[in-house]
Amino acid sequence: MIYLNGDFMPIEEARIPVLDRGFIFGDGVYEVIPVYSRRPFRLAEHLRRLQHSLDGIRIKNPHSDAEWSGLLEQLIAANEGDDQYLYLHITRGVAKRDHAFPKGVAPTVFIMSNPLLTPPKELLATGVAAITASDNRWLRCDIKAISLLPNILLRQMAVDVGAVETVLLRDGFMTEGAASNIFVVKDGALLAPPKNHLMLPGITYDVVLELAAAHDIPYEVREISEYEVRTAQELLLTSSTKEIMPITRLDGKPVGDGIPGEMFTQLYQLYQNYKITVMRGNTPAP
Ligand code: PMP
Repeated sequence: MIYLNGDFMPIEEARIPVLDRGFIFGDGVYEVIPVYSRRPFRLAEHLRRLQHSLDGIRIKNPHSDAEWSGLLEQLIAANEGDDQYLYLHITRGVAKRDHAFPKGVAPTVFIMSNPLLTPPKELLATGVAAITASDNRWLRCDIKAISLLPNILLRQMAVDVGAVETVLLRDGFMTEGAASNIFVVKDGALLAPPKNHLMLPGITYDVVLELAAAHDIPYEVREISEYEVRTAQELLLTSSTKEIMPITRLDGKPVGDGIPGEMFTQLYQLYQNYKITVMRGNTPAP
């Protein structure tokens, strides 16, 4: 079951007019929210980021947080599986094709749920391969825009050589992955790039830094040079659907020892424990 503009229906019945600005221009924003044991994870934070994205492209939020929460609850209940991921998609609506904003047009709101398939243990045991590429996206990467062409092309570069992610470098510094945030481990400390307009402020990124702070793991939020990426002891990738994964090969060379490191093992465990706490219904600080 999906939700589209006020109605719940099977996805096969969902229809969008071809003049929807999402279809014509990629004029919209989205969110992805993981659901564990039928509870949305970090819902308030995801809704806050959605508001930031909507503000960034000047679409009025069609729903209050309470309304979003109610819609998501209904959609979770209408779909199978305790672990799901919710995809929320808002476009500027349907209008005659013209770049300028249409007047008096209601946004299109689409929500779907899919099974959440977190990375299998075997993959976490070996880690994954990534490549690097020049970050050629626009300068508002903090907006979770549905127009993902650059991210798609960058991610496909990795897939073409049998890797899973592309680590992006801009002006000699690391920004993020094509669809993830990236952390570097150097001298036993976790390094994270500062949140700014060049990267998506990841919800998982925040959880990882909170966990580091709460468990006395040394960490620093600062610009990370290409050299530090290439000489990292460990590289970690985070996202709502992939959680935390070790990158053990970069551009065909081993990262550190070429196997998942201590920082990954510790943070992965802390993340799983934190998830369990949240699933039990209390969400204290990590
Ligand atoms: N950066 C980009 C470009 C992404 O697409 C994503 C999400 N897939 C992330 C970072 C990670 O964000 P989150 O932890 O909120 O999923």
